[in-house]
Amino acid sequence: MESSKILLITGVSSGFGRALAQEALAAGHKVVGTVRSVEAKREFESLSADAAFARVLDVTDFDAIDGVVEEIEASVGPIDVLVNNAGYGHEGVMEESPLAEMRKQFDVNVFGAVAMMKAVLPFMRARRRGHILNITSMGGHITMPGITYYCGSKFALEGISEALGKEVKPFGIAVTAVAPGSFRTDWAGRSMRRTPRSIPDYDAIFDPIRKAREEKSGKQLGDPQKAARAMLAAIAADRPPTHLLLGSDALGLVRDKLSTLEDEIRAWESVTVSTDC
Ligand code: NAP
Repeated sequence: MESSKILLITGVSSGFGRALAQEALAAGHKVVGTVRSVEAKREFESLSADAAFARVLDVTDFDAIDGVVEEIEASVGPIDVLVNNAGYGHEGVMEESPLAEMRKQFDVNVFGAVAMMKAVLPFMRARRRGHILNITSMGGHITMPGITYYCGSKFALEGISEALGKEVKPFGIAVTAVAPGSFRTDWAGRSMRRTPRSIPDYDAIFDPIRKAREEKSGKQLGDPQKAARAMLAAIAADRPPTHLLLGSDALGLVRDKLSTLEDEIRAWESVTVSTDC
């Protein structure tokens, strides 16, 4: 068995967070998971009497985060790995979707994750070791109509992860952005926020997308338990990856995007270099 670690995972009530917590416990690690109710806390802690710990925390409760992390360090032990998993998808045509929905999307998916990182970093930096995994999405590399705010939030988290990794590498801290494709979690079901339709011009492009996503929910290709094992492999690696795609759909779509991007860069290269001096 790999050496036992303490993992702090946000959002362990379902989906990736729960699957990773279960696989990590089975591998002999300790897991502190965040949940959003006392009942969910009790339920999570019933997974293991001496290795599963839960803390009630909404990641948008920014003022509470530092205190929760300090308390975990003092009472459970040094956090070896932070997994910023808590997040959700907003679905809606951008022109129809209120700015308040964008703020909420970024509060949870970006600001919450950053606040968690800022809380653990002083401890990891003092120890000169640590690993942060940010669950982004293939939607942090590629885009689809109808999830502009979500893609924006995941592109932001990809960029923040990559840049932070360069800042903290000298302190022995690794940062990995994990970008899953479509997986069988509650993401497209109970967790998704869907803005109602209001502009008929978008019916043709958007209605089939919304319908297909609703129909596919629960039947996606990806298995969260297998994703959890892949994340544990990244956690155990001597040199963890900066970016890790999960799922053959993510692999194909991101490769297509990179090759289209390269084609466009080449097609406009002479214009690009015409601006120097
Ligand atoms: P999920 O089953 O809906 O799980 C989401 C988890 O995040 C739940 O535990 C939820 O807690 C928690 N959460 C949501 N908002 C929160 C907040 N403000 N504060 C604290 N916890 C919060 O979906 P999932 O797919 O496992 O989602 C996990 C991550 O994977 C998300 O970042 C998502 O964007 C990403 N992702 C998912 C897919 C996919 O296909 N499933 C693909 C790419 C990326 P509650 O139970 O209290 O709501």
